[in-house]
Amino acid sequence: MLPRSCCRLGLLLFALLASTCAGTRGNVYPLDGAYLRSGSMFTRLQKIMDLNPALVRLNIIGFSGSENLPLYCLDIGRPGAARNVLLIGQHHGDEVLGLEVVLEWAEKLAGSSREDKKIAAVLDSFRFWIVPTLNPEGHRVVSAGLSSSQRKNNRDTNANGKLDLPGDGVDLNRNYPVFWDEFAELPPQHQNYKGSEPASEKEILAITLLAQKQPFDYAIFYHSSPSGALSEKIFLPALDRGNARQVKAYAELEDICAANTRSAPRRGPAWERPATTFSTSTAPKPFWWRSAG
Ligand SMILES: [Zn+2]
Repeated sequence: MLPRSCCRLGLLLFALLASTCAGTRGNVYPLDGAYLRSGSMFTRLQKIMDLNPALVRLNIIGFSGSENLPLYCLDIGRPGAARNVLLIGQHHGDEVLGLEVVLEWAEKLAGSSREDKKIAAVLDSFRFWIVPTLNPEGHRVVSAGLSSSQRKNNRDTNANGKLDLPGDGVDLNRNYPVFWDEFAELPPQHQNYKGSEPASEKEILAITLLAQKQPFDYAIFYHSSPSGALSEKIFLPALDRGNARQVKAYAELEDICAANTRSAPRRGPAWERPATTFSTSTAPKPFWWRSAG
């Protein structure tokens, strides 16, 4: 049975996403002035921290590989909370909606915890680790109006000493050690280029190290569709059926997805099980084993 606080969490997250998407007038670029610019990130995060300094901590978990931009992580909640949730607003620089969603959620958590009983109940059980963007380089390019489609980071993949748009960069979402071998070998200029080796990018190393230090019960990565061409779906992660903790969490996750899909009208199937499941014997080795091999 899903704890009521879980349902509340899922519904709140979904409501924030739905409200962000509502009323779109098609793609507008350069971005509307309401979207956060890269240079305003620290100020926005400071304001969130000031809403409730006892509840919110602002960390830097690492720096981007080419431009040395900070990778910010808001830590919101009580250190003794039973569950830890990771939210990443953005891997791809052109997917600006996720960043806005997680920042709004952070503001709601930080600013409403005293008077909103629902928020207080969520924080009784959950501690949130919110990374607005894991790709500050891509976000810098997109938010500055330099390119509407820089989904990758800004690694100089053609090694000519300057940033070429489009073309340069590594797709951070395909640079994780898990399933890296299964992604296609594509040329560096391809938008889905996965990098020269697993976790070659400092951004992925930083988030991997955070997850090793602080295991998460749930991790929600927001992706959106700059073209508007993809349907609205929640994709669940691969499941290790030999891992009892994962099986339990997965069942709760399915309940959250089902609650979300019931709460709003959808145009199509709203969530899918992954095509990939694996047993313990065939599970990918953890990162630190791979790095030693
Ligand atoms: Zn994406």
